Amino acid sequence: MTTVVVVGGGLVGALVAKKLAAHAALDVLLLDTRDHTLFKVASLRAAVLGGQHARDAAMPRTKMTEGAAPDRRVRVRVGKVASVTERAVMMDDGEEIPFDYCVAATGATNNSPGEPPQDLSTRDQVVAYFDSVSAAVREAARITIVGGGVVGVELAGEIKARFSAKEVAIVHAGDELLSSSHGITTSHFRASVLSSVRKLGVQVHLGRRVALDKARDSAETVVPGKQTLVLDNGDQLETDLLFVCIGTTPNNSMYPPAWLAPDSGLLRVRHTMQLQDHDHIFAVGDIADVAPEKMFRYGVVQADIVVANIVTLSRSGSTALRRYRDPVAIMMVPLGPKGGVSIVGRWLTFGDWFTRFKSKTLFVPRFQKDLA
Ligand SMILES: Cc1cc2nc3c(=O)[nH]c(=O)nc-3n(C[C@H](O)[C@H](O)[C@H](O)COP(=O)(O)OP(=O)(O)OC[C@H]3O[C@@H](n4cnc5c(N)ncnc54)[C@H](O)[C@@H]3O)c2cc1C
Repeated sequence: MTTVVVVGGGLVGALVAKKLAAHAALDVLLLDTRDHTLFKVASLRAAVLGGQHARDAAMPRTKMTEGAAPDRRVRVRVGKVASVTERAVMMDDGEEIPFDYCVAATGATNNSPGEPPQDLSTRDQVVAYFDSVSAAVREAARITIVGGGVVGVELAGEIKARFSAKEVAIVHAGDELLSSSHGITTSHFRASVLSSVRKLGVQVHLGRRVALDKARDSAETVVPGKQTLVLDNGDQLETDLLFVCIGTTPNNSMYPPAWLAPDSGLLRVRHTMQLQDHDHIFAVGDIADVAPEKMFRYGVVQADIVVANIVTLSRSGSTALRRYRDPVAIMMVPLGPKGGVSIVGRWLTFGDWFTRFKSKTLFVPRFQKDLA
């Protein structure tokens, strides 16, 4: 039996593990600090509404474990990976797990209410976290979101679409919303997002910064309680609930520094998704230094490449491997369940009718089927 260890059971790692396990000659072990797969695409709605939406975002892995035929099962070990070497993974409790192939899928930690603290490892804890954020949303009359990237914008849309009477403000340091998504967006698209967000009644403060005090000092992303926020031009914002949606940090502490690109901290991969100098170690999803934007669409395509290449290598040792190419870029920014703004291939911008394909369900049913 060939052992494949998948490090990280987020959206992309879980997909890889499930697809690899369909090959009976592979023994697949999935390692994650969480006992479920957090489907981050649905996690902002989970944070705003809690309840069933929270349970939807925290997807159990039962179908790929005990639900699958015995020779198609993924083995799952819940725990923290401390380090990865050329031949083994070390867990933080000291267990050493050797592998024939390793897939690094540790993703990134997003600094926003959509990313529950990493020490919440069980599905119940994560659902309770989303329920508590949702309760804070319901209690607050005035909500401020710091950060007008795609996450901050989507969060504002989710709140305003459900609770139209609440005052919602976005404070963003850039001159346009989504200013850090230039890789796959156009100025026309970014202007459409701004106009749609304003139409929902969200106040947008561009080119402004907030002194984050408590939120910054304790790295909190959800700060309930009345406070007066002071912007760098002296304006004041009274708020009952502050959300911080700034930045993403790669989960890379377990890898040798030589494997990482010095500027981004991501794992350096070739087109085959193998690490630069290691044919039997692959990286996939948000931790791999490919793709113009960190989005699941790219990770899903990479997952197929990694699975095909591991199967080829383990069966025949052939080095004729499949190569990854970015699919046509699509960014869909839901603003609540009824619409939003989308861009396809850097040319076409669409509004509510197109974005509703995503915003209505956030693809939950599809991924419940693919991942559960
Ligand atoms: C709020 C939010 C909304 C998003 N919405 C969209 C969207 O609408 N469309 C889209 O395309 N993309 C969206 N994304 C991005 C998308 O979620 C990511 O591209 C995708 O999750 C990447 O998957 P991944 O498996 O590479 O990483 P992750 O989903 O980050 O999973 C990494 C996994 O590794 C585990 N892990 C990390 N460190 C360790 C360790 N030391 N030991 C064990 N396990 C570890 C984590 O617990 C986690 O389960 C969104 C992201 C966020 C945060």
